[in-house]
Amino acid sequence: MGRFYVTTPIYYVNDIPHVGHAYTTVIADAVRRFHQVVGDETYLLTGTDEHGQKIERKAEEEKTDPKSYVDRISTRFKDAWPKLDVVYDRFIRTTDPDHEAFVAELWKKIAANGDLYLGAYEGFYCVGCEGFKTDKELEQPGNVCVLHKKPVEKVKEPTYFFALKKYQERLLDLYERRPELIQPESRRNEVLSFVRAGLEDLSCSRTSFKWGIPVPGDPAHVMYVWFDALTNYRSALGHGELAKFWAPNAKVVHLVGKDILRFHTVYWPAFLLAAGYTEEELPSVVFAHGFLTIDGDKMSKALKNGVDPLKVAGELGADVLRYHLLRAVAFGQDGDFDHAALLERYNADLGKNVGNLLNRVLGLCAKNGLTAHPADDAATDEPLDAELDESFRALSAAAKNAWDELAPHVALENTMKLSSAGNAYVDRAAPWAEAKRGNGARVAKILSRLLRVLEGLSVMLWPAMPKKSDAMRAQLGLPPLAPAVGVAAWPDALPPVRAGLDLGPAGPLFPTFDDKAQKELLDRLVPKSEPAPAEAAPAAARPATADAEATPGVIGYDDFAKVDLRVGLVKTCEKVPKKDKLLRLTVDVGEPEPRTIVAGLALTFQPEALVGRRVVVVANLAPRDFGGKLVSHGMLLATGPSEALHLATIDEAVAPGSRLK
Ligand SMILES: [Zn+2]
Repeated sequence: MGRFYVTTPIYYVNDIPHVGHAYTTVIADAVRRFHQVVGDETYLLTGTDEHGQKIERKAEEEKTDPKSYVDRISTRFKDAWPKLDVVYDRFIRTTDPDHEAFVAELWKKIAANGDLYLGAYEGFYCVGCEGFKTDKELEQPGNVCVLHKKPVEKVKEPTYFFALKKYQERLLDLYERRPELIQPESRRNEVLSFVRAGLEDLSCSRTSFKWGIPVPGDPAHVMYVWFDALTNYRSALGHGELAKFWAPNAKVVHLVGKDILRFHTVYWPAFLLAAGYTEEELPSVVFAHGFLTIDGDKMSKALKNGVDPLKVAGELGADVLRYHLLRAVAFGQDGDFDHAALLERYNADLGKNVGNLLNRVLGLCAKNGLTAHPADDAATDEPLDAELDESFRALSAAAKNAWDELAPHVALENTMKLSSAGNAYVDRAAPWAEAKRGNGARVAKILSRLLRVLEGLSVMLWPAMPKKSDAMRAQLGLPPLAPAVGVAAWPDALPPVRAGLDLGPAGPLFPTFDDKAQKELLDRLVPKSEPAPAEAAPAAARPATADAEATPGVIGYDDFAKVDLRVGLVKTCEKVPKKDKLLRLTVDVGEPEPRTIVAGLALTFQPEALVGRRVVVVANLAPRDFGGKLVSHGMLLATGPSEALHLATIDEAVAPGSRLK
């Protein structure tokens, strides 16, 4: 148990909260909640970055003063996060007086150390980036910023330089000794090569505009916006009691987008070192996450496809949005926010897995007349029961480890595996059969075991879905989880038997959406009118014989014979860019050329895992157009939820193209 301090970037107030902001903020909150569960003392900081030329110009455009402008936008961020069940300890604004005073103090310390000196800057500045650019960073002709696609400005003005170059070797040495400082690994390498290529002193003040923190002793200058902004992580804690979160024994984690990694891993530690902080007082981890695309398209204001996270949370509940953000994308990589996948995942993971387990177990309790948790005697355990205990320990440890390593997607994957293990245990232990045999003690044991698994799951889900966790616990007769500092509440093993504890009222925790409800939700949520993938052509279900006609749903042999089922050999398989469910396969079905088949298998299978397998193909299905020149010529047979599919396969003795009958 220790101290854990996590920050989001402070968001620049030239924008309103979108799903990209929500992504980082929800992850910060979930990771913090995990640390609360393990008993750490925690602090979560978020806020808004409010100075700079871009803001000054934006306010001018809107014919207002910068402070009124930032007040208005900042409030939107401040009010958004509680609606996503994000609990921050402080919402810092870089216009807060204590922040401004702290930044001035930091400046003075660095100046006293001789690392700020007056000179003149001549070069390029992108106001969009609020960053200086070298020739080689720009597109020619026209000196265009690669990010903003606009010509940068040539500036020539007096400036205070920060002696960044002086810190080059020290930074490289630091990265070497503390490889965990910059994550993930691929990003770390980018920073290493940037620093190795040679650092230049950094222009750290501007005189051509006013909207910033004045340089102490030279108010004609305002500080470079990043000097001001980065300092928020430290200024928020001040010099009082909270400074314990910025101490050698505290873990300090900055979550940032990959585009601002350099500022956090080069400038920020250099500023701190220059101001006299020791290496033990530098951040522990700077973790860069990737960017989200929306339903396969790059998120941009121009495309108007910025997802409003509050709208999604309003429709589905904050927990469902949180779960998807945490689970859908491998944290650290780019990912896609796909509305249809969100609903699929909701149905598969939450509805049909966890929700189903809760319903089944409480239903079985009711059926067996249990209104309270039953007793259990561990001495009468069968191998099946011990196996479940072992799965619990292993999966809970894997999830715990993943949260600790900032891999929420892996943590939740293991949490779902535990829920699946619970469902499999119900099937194998078959309490209904034991009840039939009059074996009451065995029924009690099975249900007790399952209630304990559910209690463990409620804790493991809490970082991601605090409200649903509480609701689940209420059904189990448990109080809401209330982590306390110094108390390790993560379920390393099955929670204790709670014999005699009354169960709460049961109800569907994650009601699943049927196709119609999904369509309606998608209509409301998807920000632009992108055609959904074409539905499979409805089968011409006209009965061929009188017999079949007499029994709805039954087809005659002739109808069945129309379906061309063939053995296919998967030759190649790849992910479909921007569609996180789809794989594109080429399949040999005994024709001169392999067929292209597009199938929703990507949530279960790695593409390479399918190559060489013999699958069952519906070979005469009308081609299905997935858009973007992606047409499927056939369908594979499979069963299960999208994330746990089993393919219908056939053994190697059968030649591709063989018909099934
Ligand atoms: Zn730019």
